[in-house]
Amino acid sequence: MADGTLGEALGQLYVKVAFPPESKKKVLEMVENLRVALRERITNLDWMGAETKQQAITKLNAFGVKIGYPDKWKTYAFDVKRDDYFGNVRRAAAFRIQENLAKLGKPIDRTEWGMTPSTVNAYYSPTMNEIVFPAGILQPPFFDPKADDAVNYGSLGFVIGHEMTHGFDDSGSQFDAEGNLKNWWTDADKKAYQSRTDLVVKQYDAYEPLKGEHVNGKLTLGENIADIGGLKIAFAAYQNSLKGKPAPAPIDGFTGPQRFFLGAAAVWRNHIREAALSLRLKTDPHSPGRERVNGPLSNLPEFYEAFGCADGQPMKRDAQVRPAIW
Ligand SMILES: [Zn+2]
Repeated sequence: MADGTLGEALGQLYVKVAFPPESKKKVLEMVENLRVALRERITNLDWMGAETKQQAITKLNAFGVKIGYPDKWKTYAFDVKRDDYFGNVRRAAAFRIQENLAKLGKPIDRTEWGMTPSTVNAYYSPTMNEIVFPAGILQPPFFDPKADDAVNYGSLGFVIGHEMTHGFDDSGSQFDAEGNLKNWWTDADKKAYQSRTDLVVKQYDAYEPLKGEHVNGKLTLGENIADIGGLKIAFAAYQNSLKGKPAPAPIDGFTGPQRFFLGAAAVWRNHIREAALSLRLKTDPHSPGRERVNGPLSNLPEFYEAFGCADGQPMKRDAQVRPAIW
């Protein structure tokens, strides 16, 4: 309740304990490396024409980035009393309504945050054209300032790449660099994009996390595209980050690329009851954790190489069924 009603007041205390300035610096650097990697990939896409590429790169360059916590903190102008829980909740709700009404007729506040600092989540906002990473997600297993780059690019880099590609997925691509609902794709490129998404739908439709219950490839399409593209971009950014440095020595017997993929897999490690999984298969636009890992990894030649996957093995999908979008 404190997070839901006084999120930024709580957040100020939270970041003091859990989010040192070095973390912010490091994450910003990662975001910029991911941006460079995505720009390189867009430039080299064989299915997208020059005109659309130019627009896509303009949009990518304009991406706003928010890391950790807001630059200016919100003031909560209502009384919080120790012995009045119900009253506190009502005053918080009244404050929130007034706060929203006060925005009417005013220009957009681009400094506003859609999540509180302690939230373990991230988002891309198409109308603001920005990616946002609250301090809550900038901790293990997503990010560890003490871990080596390979692990951080595999985990947080994967998530950053995921959010970035949302700017260009089936819904995000409908908004331009300023966040206006405006088409900037040529018809031919839009068609080429859509035809490439069919392979993603097919791949995920085939997953059967519970006996007789499949992933819905259409429902989860946007998120799966973001996972597949995000992982690819993160790996490219990791490799870019090595430039000029000697190849990193294995740690605990694992090479840099292997640690990258272990970092990615650790992000979606979870437990879920069958009934909850069944419900989510019907309602959640995200695939289950296991498929969020095996789906993207089994499409990636960089993964086969890192772990020596041979043709015909389940984690190496045939070239002709492998979707290649970003
Ligand atoms: Zn997403």
